[in-house]
Amino acid sequence: LQGDLSVDREVHSVCPYCGVGCQLTYQIKDERIVAVQGRDGPANQGRLCVKGRFGFDYVHHAGRLTTPLIRKAGVPKLASDAERQGDWREVFREATWEEALDFAAGGLKRLRDQHGLKALAGFGSAKGSNEEAYLFQKLVRTGFGSNNVDHCTRLCHASSVAALLEGVGSGAVSNPAIDVTEAELILVIGSNPTSNHPVAATWMKNAAQRGAKIVLADPRRTDIARHAWRTLQFRPDTDVAMVNAMLHTIIEEDLVDQAFVRERTTHFEELKATVAAYSPERMAPICGIPAETLREVARAFATAKSAMVLWGMGVSQHVHGTDNARCLIALVAITGQIGKPGSGLHPLRGQNNVQGASDAGLIPMMFPNYQRVNNPEAHAWFEQFWGQPLDATPGYTVTEILKKAVAPASDPHKVWGMYVEGENPAMSDPDLNHARAALAALEHLVVQDIFMTETAWLADVILPASAWPEKTGTVTNTDRTVQMGRRALNPPGQARQDLWIIQQIAQRMGLNWHYPGPESGVAAVYEEMRQAMHGVIAGVSWQRLERDSAVTYPCLSEDDPGHPIVFIDHFPTPDGKLRLVPADIIPAAEKPDDDYPFVLITGRQLEHWHTGSMTRRTEVLDALEPQPTASLNGADLQRLGVQPGQALTVASRRGQITLTARRDDGTPPGTVFIPFAYTEAAANLLTNAALDPFGKIPEFKYCAVKVMRADTA
Ligand code: SF4
Repeated sequence: LQGDLSVDREVHSVCPYCGVGCQLTYQIKDERIVAVQGRDGPANQGRLCVKGRFGFDYVHHAGRLTTPLIRKAGVPKLASDAERQGDWREVFREATWEEALDFAAGGLKRLRDQHGLKALAGFGSAKGSNEEAYLFQKLVRTGFGSNNVDHCTRLCHASSVAALLEGVGSGAVSNPAIDVTEAELILVIGSNPTSNHPVAATWMKNAAQRGAKIVLADPRRTDIARHAWRTLQFRPDTDVAMVNAMLHTIIEEDLVDQAFVRERTTHFEELKATVAAYSPERMAPICGIPAETLREVARAFATAKSAMVLWGMGVSQHVHGTDNARCLIALVAITGQIGKPGSGLHPLRGQNNVQGASDAGLIPMMFPNYQRVNNPEAHAWFEQFWGQPLDATPGYTVTEILKKAVAPASDPHKVWGMYVEGENPAMSDPDLNHARAALAALEHLVVQDIFMTETAWLADVILPASAWPEKTGTVTNTDRTVQMGRRALNPPGQARQDLWIIQQIAQRMGLNWHYPGPESGVAAVYEEMRQAMHGVIAGVSWQRLERDSAVTYPCLSEDDPGHPIVFIDHFPTPDGKLRLVPADIIPAAEKPDDDYPFVLITGRQLEHWHTGSMTRRTEVLDALEPQPTASLNGADLQRLGVQPGQALTVASRRGQITLTARRDDGTPPGTVFIPFAYTEAAANLLTNAALDPFGKIPEFKYCAVKVMRADTA
């Protein structure tokens, strides 16, 4: 506020960044957000991290898209990096909304009518509201005519969800993150919470302070290790070996919760038979953790009065991501550490609304509320509910859509056109040279966003949308808590609310949609979604959210307070029991060799979010982390003859980038860590598109690279 402490108004909303879902208050002066305060929400109790507190001025950035744009005739699509830094006026011309919407919807309709119902795909957003996610998937299913709709869950927790649905019958967490304050032992695996879920990390630190044991299991010794009782810095790619060794110990040493296993689980004998081969003594040389440490941690987990497992994308982003999660589910199940305070499973969701977008059906194999599209009963229900015939075959995932975009014209399932709302696959997908070429190959690409993202540069038409503080809507955080965000500002220039744009496209594609009421009919859309998800949010009305701001589902009636802890006496599976699914070791798709001797791990850092489209345009955050860096162990830097701060070139079989060397002795020798937020050194130019067969998630956490001094590359 720079001396002037008066503000014109305050508006209560939710942080637009990570899945923790901190409630906050925007302070507005002269139609600008001038400060943000933490609010007393269930996940944050007034706390905010640096992103929540200082990451708001992207809203006012001069680069906001304020006019609809149409690609000029004859301008090629595969823009080089240099062109993407240039002036968009050389590539696009301004258009009216009427012209841009007619052009956007007309192109999609033409391709659908010409090539059939599989010709189109939609990539929605986990950064928008639940209502936007719901309407977007409904548009693809009822307007495009297929289930070719996906979003960034495919790139973060799809494998966790696959394992959870299979094992416990629900893709959501069993306990909120703040429940670590009730835990005696907290296993944090494949997660860097102080960077990626910072307020959740503060609850872990508070728990450690009052005596809880934190076990950090991660190839990188990250900041939470300073608070940990034990740090298991296991070799990348050996998660299954390590967790199976703990399962082996618990069974061999008779630490199993026999009553829980007997009454609440199935398939224990299969699990026992598989893990019999995984003694800690055999697994120690594979995962790099001493056998006695594996046994000690397993004993502590099994005998703790309460123990929680929290995991991140270090678990999920592997070709064996689903297997990793299966092992963690087995760990809590055979020890009975689930269904009570401080005990359970928590896959920490990345984006602020990835839980809600998944719940709302923004995934190719599920209608809203995880009803399978090929389940005849669910299919018939949604055909009746939406009043239209629906495709009964699962659609393509994000990575499959891009493969189908470069399929030959003779392929009856070739994808010809795509609608991307608020996502940036030209930065977030693996093997970017391929992904960008696939986006460029589309005959018609509609992009709806707030900035000229790397994906927008490849569009035929760009629809300027609204930032989170410019709209009203609900989001669902990692704890299953549905929260109300309220509009604090109007979108700039001619930019419009996303919900309005989606409805305009739908109407032009022949759908008779009318959602009455203020804010583009958001309350009416929510109430329709509530009916589609009656099994979990029947008791969470729009009026209740307006009044209370937050309700945790399942919540089935207006007087139901909601349920932060679930699976207390049964699991939502057909027989009410948790299904144990054993896993064996499957190696990474691309191992280091003489030509590419390092392992690349990609991820996030505290100050930047996802592909950087928002935080790189935020003054404070970009000042704190202004340039792309590659973190290596000091011993590796010395061997390469590189000083921290010097330029490094990192190359894989798919591409190469040059960036600044950073010394981080928490990064183990032989590995390099690179954040993927920087367009000038896009980490995903290097990554491998190999997929987990169940979750179809790419292996962002492991591929082979070589590292060189830039002046010798
Ligand atoms: Fe926002 Fe997540 Fe930080 Fe909370 S922890 S302020 S939700 S980025």
